[in-house]
Amino acid sequence: MNNEQYLVVVSGPSGSGKDTVVSRLMAQHPEIEISVSATTRDKRPGEAEGVNYYYLTVPAFEQKIADGEILEYTRYCGNYYGTPKSEVDRRIAAHTTVILVIEVVGATNIKRLYPGATTIFIQPPSYAELEERLRGRGTESEQAIQSRLARAAEEMSYATDYDEVVVNDDVDRCADEIYRLIR
Ligand code: ADP
Ligand code: 5GP
Repeated sequence: MNNEQYLVVVSGPSGSGKDTVVSRLMAQHPEIEISVSATTRDKRPGEAEGVNYYYLTVPAFEQKIADGEILEYTRYCGNYYGTPKSEVDRRIAAHTTVILVIEVVGATNIKRLYPGATTIFIQPPSYAELEERLRGRGTESEQAIQSRLARAAEEMSYATDYDEVVVNDDVDRCADEIYRLIR
């Protein structure tokens, strides 16, 4: 059996609801695990080391790249984000479904490395709703919101490259749809 089938990649513009939907999915299906990425961005209020991310300095992140410990990485709105190898390989070898919530460049790289992975793009119902959610979350400065909205327009054009596209109009409905796609 091909272990790559246990790998699921979820992308979507910032504010589309990826973290909310994936958290709901995992609450309902505890057998599914999430890959914790490394990042150089600041910790948001409520986030915790090793839960949301591994928070690294730029030199520490670059050292991990040099040491071959990062499966894929990119720069997003001025910060590094990357998937540690250790988050993925041991899980798919154990036939545990693991979800990577990563942006479009990382998703393309993972699909190249693991063609058997399932890639899912979460779309907001509209661009206006995306902006409303991003502002409503209240976690970013105005400058960061503008940067994420500008990136969102580009990210949306990648949707057709994914195996599946789901619209996050309702958290439960969207989580159910993703579960049906990956189970
Ligand atoms: P992402 O992880 O894609 O950046 P989040 O999961 O942080 O997005 O969601 C952005 C904001 O939108 C959060 O405040 C979240 O509560 C809200 N949200 C997510 N999904 C929905 C939905 N289906 N309807 C309304 N609000 C939503
Ligand atoms: P945020 O700062 O909102 O947590 O994340 C910003 C973007 O980086 C999101 O689109 C998120 O999915 C993406 N991201 C998080 N971790 C990784 C990763 O390990 N690799 C890549 N390529 N993108 C990531």
